[in-house]
Amino acid sequence: MSRHVGLIGYPIKHSISPYFQQAALDYYQLDIRYEAWETVPAQLHDTVNDLRKPQNIGANVTVPYKETVLPLLDEVDELANLIGAVNTIVKKGDRLLGFNSDLYGFSEALDKEGHFDPEGKRVVILGAGGAAKAVGFALVQKNVNSLVIINRTFRRAQILADSLTSYSTDSSSGLETIKTKIAALPWESLDSQETFSHCHLIINCTTMGMKHSPQEGQSPLRLEVIPRGALVCDLVYNPWPTPLLELARKAGADILGGLPMLVYQGAASFKLWTGKEAPVDIMFTKAKEILTGVKR
Ligand code: NAP
Repeated sequence: MSRHVGLIGYPIKHSISPYFQQAALDYYQLDIRYEAWETVPAQLHDTVNDLRKPQNIGANVTVPYKETVLPLLDEVDELANLIGAVNTIVKKGDRLLGFNSDLYGFSEALDKEGHFDPEGKRVVILGAGGAAKAVGFALVQKNVNSLVIINRTFRRAQILADSLTSYSTDSSSGLETIKTKIAALPWESLDSQETFSHCHLIINCTTMGMKHSPQEGQSPLRLEVIPRGALVCDLVYNPWPTPLLELARKAGADILGGLPMLVYQGAASFKLWTGKEAPVDIMFTKAKEILTGVKR
């Protein structure tokens, strides 16, 4: 019997995960199909429950369900619980276990592709959803100097800032003595140069600019506020480059797209489902081929 793993989200027409995950499964000649399971909110419960069927081994979870999926699972691992977001589900026996591989994916991408060491740096995060949470925890773990969180819904930015502050000051978290200064700012502060004037790293964790979304073609930042020499990272990977990254380039900033994070988080999910090391090079090649339409 062929087995199945899939992507749960809405909308997911833009997603390239099915292509590069299938390339990795085929590399090992596994009889597993990776499918796109587009799910409207009213169906989420049923889609997750269907994972218990014998042919299914797990799933990835994406926008907008990384947080709402938690109560539907039997168990959530410590890191995913801390972050409050799940992007990978693994079926073990008839139990559904939740994990978060976004934190690992972001850290690997920043290090291996962005060549950026966050320790002691000043950082601004745009967004406060599931991805922003993983990015925020990753950066606090790396002892950044300061972290400013700006989100359209200010309350969510405040809640994330509070939970990162508790984590950073909790002696049992295992963090070193450097404490990150963490603050939430309202969405309007995106328009002010002052918000970004001393910052080394800006990460867009909103859906702005994402292809096939209502925010397609939009950048969260104006060119004038982007500091020359900073690294601007956009978690949105389709289109390439995103409107934000085009402006960042013009402003003289360094840029990092969302593709490396996508592949590294996917590689960690692959290992959770199959127990095998993911063929990362094959995944990158396939992902770039699908995004650019150019066969390498
Ligand atoms: P999410 O939990 O649904 O959060 C969405 C975020 O976008 C929230 O902060 C939301 O603000 C904001 N937002 C939505 N519409 C907006 C608008 N019109 N104007 C301003 N802000 C808006 O989604 P997520 O899982 O965090 O994902 C966020 C983005 O990161 C998506 O584009 C996703 O594809 C990308 N991502 C990429 C990777 C990767 O590997 N490259 C991994 C994870 C996520 P409110 O709180 O105000 O609604």
